[in-house]
Amino acid sequence: MILFKKAGDLHKWLDIQRKTGNQIGFVPTMGALHAGHISLIESSRKQNQVGVSSIFINPAQFNDPADFAKYPVTLEKDIAMLEEAGCAVLFLPSVREIYPGGFAETIHYDLGILEKVFEGEFRPGHFQGVCRVVHRLLDIVQPDNLYLGQKDYQQCMVITKLVELTAYSERTKVNISPTLREEDGLAMSSRNMRLTENERKIATEIFNCLSGIKQNFKPGDVQHLLVEARSRLTKAGFKTDYVAIADADDLSLIRVWDGRQPAVALVAAFLHEVRLIDNMLLT
Ligand code: AMP
Repeated sequence: MILFKKAGDLHKWLDIQRKTGNQIGFVPTMGALHAGHISLIESSRKQNQVGVSSIFINPAQFNDPADFAKYPVTLEKDIAMLEEAGCAVLFLPSVREIYPGGFAETIHYDLGILEKVFEGEFRPGHFQGVCRVVHRLLDIVQPDNLYLGQKDYQQCMVITKLVELTAYSERTKVNISPTLREEDGLAMSSRNMRLTENERKIATEIFNCLSGIKQNFKPGDVQHLLVEARSRLTKAGFKTDYVAIADADDLSLIRVWDGRQPAVALVAAFLHEVRLIDNMLLT
């Protein structure tokens, strides 16, 4: 695996690859890698001649400085996992390399309703920060294929929108991979490392609630499913930001399901200091 720290060096190297006809796949991450990330890297490796991944904990997307300060860092292990997965290139930039003009220089991305609901509502500014870093990374890597995980459902929609808003709609295909889960159903996440042994056991209740919603999802009023899930999470010790059922295509709330609308259930909840998110397609 080749490691690049400078945007200019990576850009030049990738230009040569493109000129020789090689297709480029890209997996952006914030590190603390797990099998979920590796599943994206494997898809990228299979579908492209050159697989690039990046590790960058993006300060611009953290609305809570404590969350940023405690974000897990496991660089040596990450590098070993990437090597083993056959990743060709790792981009490991500094903050200055990503934001050469500093934080003051801002573009506003018109994300519409997408940044007003769910993660957008509870993490103000988060998706603008995600767009800033992904836009910059796209400018550096200019991939043919971009790989994202369904684990971050709303983020997938935001980045798809970013690609549409920029020239990348012509160049880059967005590929969304299913959420990888632990044996007990807990969605794999870098943040799971911050859970105590007891919290780790409780954390699976998010998956159980989502599965319960899916099993009982029928046409008609669906509010009772959310009330039940919220109370179940509260009893287990969570402080929930949201438990919701939404249109899977535009994230508008579904209160009464017509039996046809594509639907997704979404959860965000804190276990003490650790905020976990998950989702499940219902249709
Ligand atoms: P992160 O490092 O958390 O920013 O995630 C980097 C990419 O990996 C994002 O596209 C995530 O959606 C994806 N990802 C994170 N967790 C999982 C998972 N459990 N299964 C599949 N993809 C995931």
